[in-house]
Order: sequence, then structure tokens, then C-alpha cells
Amino acid sequence: MATTADRVHEAPVTFYRPDYHIRTPDMRSPEYVQLSTAAAITLGLIPGTMHRTACTHCLNLLVTYPEGCRANCAYCGLARHREEARDYADRNFIRVDWPTVRYEEIIERVKRGDDRGQFERMCISMITHPRSDEDTLVLLRRWVAEIPHVPVSILSNPTTMSYEDLVTLEREGADIFTVALDAATPEIFERTRGRTVDSPHTWEKYWQVIEWAAEIFGPERFGVHLICGMGETEREILEVCQRIRDMGGHNHMFAFFPEQGSLMEDWEPVPRDQWRRVQLARFLIDYAGVRLEAMRFDGEGRVVDFGLPHDELEAIIASGKPFRTSGCPGKDDEEISACNRPYGDSSPTDIRSFPFAPDARDVEIIRRQMAGEDIGTLREDLVDD
Ligand code: SF4
Repeated sequence: MATTADRVHEAPVTFYRPDYHIRTPDMRSPEYVQLSTAAAITLGLIPGTMHRTACTHCLNLLVTYPEGCRANCAYCGLARHREEARDYADRNFIRVDWPTVRYEEIIERVKRGDDRGQFERMCISMITHPRSDEDTLVLLRRWVAEIPHVPVSILSNPTTMSYEDLVTLEREGADIFTVALDAATPEIFERTRGRTVDSPHTWEKYWQVIEWAAEIFGPERFGVHLICGMGETEREILEVCQRIRDMGGHNHMFAFFPEQGSLMEDWEPVPRDQWRRVQLARFLIDYAGVRLEAMRFDGEGRVVDFGLPHDELEAIIASGKPFRTSGCPGKDDEEISACNRPYGDSSPTDIRSFPFAPDARDVEIIRRQMAGEDIGTLREDLVDD
């Protein structure tokens, strides 16, 4: 009698939702990609709603192979050390499941408008795998040919890439090129992504690729992902932000959250007050023309002065923009990311990156968090006083 696992192989799989009770089908890019849960909901592939946000404006895709990512970053749910415990397509990434879908199916759905015009950007995330560079190019070319009005970001894997790879991606129509540097200092990089954890990445190669991106893609068309809260000071991570801004790029900031199953699953999430200060300062550097040298820091590297007159700073805080998810822009406002990665770095009860515009009460909570109060973002947490 055929088992569930056997039946899975009888017909080509169109859609696979992570389920570690069945044998994972053999699915690999470029025929298949994984997509974020938020994108799958927006496209109608799975039912569901997201707390206070109706959809995502970015179709986040991930190349996929049964062998998985060959790197072993300490904070990542996709890391190689999990291969004995869980098949690759079943692993969580930035807190959520990533279903696997035929690329053809995604193209058809977007072409016929299943996203109701919501997607303002598509993003291909590479992983450390020998086929990742080539397959990313195949996915990019197909997209540009079929859906040219939705620009593409490439979240690259510098370790396997050459200068010519970047030139080719730009020539073939990639709009924005980003590097997930993640760690703010060489020491943290080595400890979380380098030889210390048997991972192949190096700080030097990552910065080399960032420099190539600045040259090949140019100002406003490249960016860096950074994770706040892996042991660096506020000053150290903001020094990286200023360096990237000086090169012409933008900083996409993530709050450290201990990913279940990762080597850092027992770490604490980044403290709320530290995160809010870094979010605000990053926004000021990226979009308000404030320089790091105008800010002041205490002996522990914490921001004590954001370098702006009080009224101007208050107006920027009240806008809520600094506290929204940071990332590649959408159509209307370059300060607001199309890529809102709902609840990718926190739970809906304790939001770190707001995937929607924070309202006045959210901003009130943010101010209290910045002042050191130990409160989450659920309205019920507010004590009327
Ligand atoms: S910010 Fe979003 S769209 Fe841009 S590279 Fe990162 S994951 Fe992709």
C-alpha cells in the first residue's frame, strides 16, 4: 500500500508546506523555490492572516536544495548542523516556515494578479551552495522577462561570488544588491559565521563584495543586512551604518531573535531599549542626514544624544518610520521598505520591526521602551495612568 511519502512522489509537487512527519519531496532550484509564509498568504497559497497587517509588499524567495545550505551560521535556522534533526525544506528561517513551490506556479499567480497588485518588489535570497549563483541568475532572467514591472533585489551569498557575478546580475536586471553582513564586528563575525562554528564565511570577503556592489550597482542600489544584539555595542553597529551610508548604501537592520534550533537559541533577544535606540539612530544616518560624529555615546557605547535638535527628533519619532521594518524600498516612499518581513525578528506580542505604520499608541510604547520600561507591544500591556 502506498504511504503518504510515496504518494508525494507520484506527481510533480506544486506546493509543499513544511511537515516533518512525512518524507520531504526532492525539490531543488531553479524549478522550485521557497517563499516566506507572508508571501504565501498574500499569494493565496495558504490561508491565514497576520496580526495588524493584511499582506506583504515583497515576494521573498529562497533558493532551495535537499542538501541545504553548506554554511553553519550560529544564529540561523537553516544552518548545516541541523541536517540530522530536520530536512532542509522543513527548517524555519527568520522565525517562520518557508513553504516550497514550483517557480512556474509563482510566476503564473503573480501574472494573473493573485497578489492583487500588492507586490512592489521581489527578492531572491541565495544560500551557500555550489548551484546557488547559477540558479539565482536563471530565476532573475525569467522574472525580468515575465514580470518586468516588479523590481528584483538579490540577497547575495558573497562567499561563492566573483566580481563578474555581480556585473552579470546587474546587467541582467537586478535592481538592488544586498549583503547579509549580519555581524557588526570582525570578532562577532568570526564567532558566529566563521571558522569558530565551522562555517566558510570571512569578514574580508564580505566587505570586498560590499565594495564591488558599491561600484557596480552604485548609490542607493545596494545595502547591508545587520543583526543588532549579538554582543556588539550600539556605537559599533552604528559605525558600520555610517560606513555603508558613506559608500552610498543603506542599512537593513534586524533585531537579534534566538531562532529555534540554531546554535544561539539560548541567547536572549536584543534588549528593547538598545534596539529602539539603534533603530532610531540607523534611520537618522540613512535618511535624515545625521552623522555618527554628531551623536554622543556613554562609556558603554550607548547612544545618549542623537545629534538632532529636540523638536526635530521628536517629529521623526512621532512619524513612527524609524521603527518600521527596514529594507529595500517600495514604490511610493524610499524611507519605507516594501520588504516588511512580518514578525521575522519578533513575535506579534513584542514587535521589534513594525511591519505596518505604528500608530500614536504604538509610538507611546516605543518611547517607553526606549526609556527602559520592560513592556511588550500588545495594547493590553499598556497600563492606563
Ligand atoms: S531588505 Fe528584503 S528585499 Fe531587500 S535584500 Fe533584504 S530581504 Fe531582500
